[in-house]
Amino acid sequence: MDEVKQWYLDKRIERTLQSLKENGFETIYAPNRAEAAKEIVALIPSDALVGIGGSITVRELGLLDALSRRGNRVAQHWQSAISSEERMEIRRTQLISDVFLTSSNAITESGQLVNVDGTGNRVAAMIFGPKKVIVVAGMNKIVRDLDGAIERVNSIAAPMNAMRLGCQTPCVANGVCTDCESSDRICSVTTIINRRPGRTDFTIVLVGEELGY
Ligand code: SF4
Repeated sequence: MDEVKQWYLDKRIERTLQSLKENGFETIYAPNRAEAAKEIVALIPSDALVGIGGSITVRELGLLDALSRRGNRVAQHWQSAISSEERMEIRRTQLISDVFLTSSNAITESGQLVNVDGTGNRVAAMIFGPKKVIVVAGMNKIVRDLDGAIERVNSIAAPMNAMRLGCQTPCVANGVCTDCESSDRICSVTTIINRRPGRTDFTIVLVGEELGY
């Protein structure tokens, strides 16, 4: 990467990591996805029940396979060969997992996590229930402030996720959010985690690569 671009990104990551620490989160910086995956597997006990939220980032890191191979029980609902009742049960199991693993739609430079969900299971598990939460995010998730976070969700994360899910929404038709009233709407719950939730062990792994939506 161009030296000046790298300098700019490094400074941005540094500022964000510092703010996250000040807000009570444990933080890890991983320069690439391979290092990130190694760090995350090392944080998770081999006998832990691991809940995995709907996250492209987690899957891009190959963590489902790595954890299953090691013998962890994994609760993840992105499976095609299960009924909707089974999928709901897995979502409930995630809420009481030992470790919940997910990404964040946006992370502000002042150390806040911003997320938008349709069902709400992912954002609920990030706040209370699992004993430990690990959030892994590529540097593309870093934004200046809360306005930037909402803008990122509306213009990038939500339309791309709606497209991935095959939703019949205006954002899939046009590529932009119109704050729709569609029955397929995936934006029902918005959370801002300003500081580490008081009863949860919480680690954020920032990766020096683009990951997820
Ligand atoms: S509110 Fe509707 S149009 Fe906007 S991103 Fe969400 S699903 Fe798409």
